Amino acid sequence: MISGSKPIPAPAPLAAERISLNQRTLGPEVDLATAVEAAVAAGFGAISPWRVHVEAVGRKQAGRMIRDAGLKVSGLCSAGFFGPGARPEDGREARHDMLEAIEDAAELAAATIVTIGGGVGADGDMWTARERLEAGLAGILDDARAAGVRVGLEPLHPMVAADRGCISTIAYALELATTIDPVGDAFGVVLDAYHVWWEPHLAASVACCQGRIDAVHVCDWRVPTRDLVLDRGLPGDGVAQPRRLRALAEAAGYAGLVEVEVFQRDLWALKDPDKIAAAAMAATLAHG
Ligand code: ZN
Repeated sequence: MISGSKPIPAPAPLAAERISLNQRTLGPEVDLATAVEAAVAAGFGAISPWRVHVEAVGRKQAGRMIRDAGLKVSGLCSAGFFGPGARPEDGREARHDMLEAIEDAAELAAATIVTIGGGVGADGDMWTARERLEAGLAGILDDARAAGVRVGLEPLHPMVAADRGCISTIAYALELATTIDPVGDAFGVVLDAYHVWWEPHLAASVACCQGRIDAVHVCDWRVPTRDLVLDRGLPGDGVAQPRRLRALAEAAGYAGLVEVEVFQRDLWALKDPDKIAAAAMAATLAHG
């Protein structure tokens, strides 16, 4: 088969302590203290906090709160918005924002900074956007290294390339990481089932990421999908096969945390962080 999707062994069941809860799964307004409490109650071993909520309490307090709860940090969400950048000052702002994220990630001992690249912008073009992105990322390599922080490039589904993230495929994310950081001590790749499930060369592309996988995000693609950003499914609730993505990552040597990341209005409408966290844990144990 062209896609190289030969059978791969089913991965071992996930232990709860290896599963991380992306804070936004609970809803965009849920603060860090509530999210940490819900994660612990549901048995998660890690959390992926959002920067807006880290900033709300300050990075030192956020780090303390997470450590005291006994949680690890899979990734810090999110940074690297190098678009649209039509004005020179936008590039400076993006760099400043990335440097802040590096400090946050160092304080939180985050496994990586989830870096999505930024979009094209209403009056931009893809080629310029990618030039800007490549230059912007190269410009923070030394800062990331000095802080001992990893920058995880997350390809997003091409449907959001114009307005959110123009790193659209695993191959491009890996090419960026290896070109900017040939050594591999700072730049890696983040694999998210929602964004890469459709790739015809998924198996081969993940295999090429050996030694560079910073994070694995599990979730699902609902059919029909009613909103391209806010209708993600819990693992098992769609066609993305998140467990297969984990199996491919593990076959490429990945042994890190597995993060459940589900932005879904139906879940958020429950307005019950404990219930949502428990549902996310159950779905990830069963299908992640
Ligand atoms: Zn993700």
